Amino acid sequence: MRYHDITKDDMKNGDGLRAVLWLSGCEHACPGCQNPVTWDPDDGLLFDENAKEELFDILGRDYISGLTLSGGDPLFPGNRSEVLSLLKEVRERFPSKTIWCYTGYTYEDIACLEHIKYIDVLVDGKYVESLKDNKYEWAGSTNQRVIDLRRKE
Ligand code: SF4
Repeated sequence: MRYHDITKDDMKNGDGLRAVLWLSGCEHACPGCQNPVTWDPDDGLLFDENAKEELFDILGRDYISGLTLSGGDPLFPGNRSEVLSLLKEVRERFPSKTIWCYTGYTYEDIACLEHIKYIDVLVDGKYVESLKDNKYEWAGSTNQRVIDLRRKE
């Protein structure tokens, strides 16, 4: 699995100040995508132990609310196995932190994945340029839903 960036103190991709992992790989090709550089799963940096420790170092800070997975698409098929391992490890090491995940799939597309058990908030669906709304909180277009998965349990 590869990634493009790890950002910290991010306020735009979920509640509070967050660590964001920007993964490589996306098959949705939404017209108007802000991050086409992240589509190629073979581009970017290898998400190795050092990268994971960098992420965990940020997550360990008291003022960080949690982890956001973005990209690219964290649930791109080639990412799913490693992302699932990462989700499990983050849950275990940082039980009080929230996990948000952005994906171009709809909730219904991926509801059967084990990943869902570990994600608190899912922002789902492709970006649709004609539904772009800069005032719509946490997502780029209004077809995308901000789904509190804990409330679905
Ligand atoms: S799902 Fe996200 S990263 Fe992928 S093409 Fe659409 S907007 Fe871009």
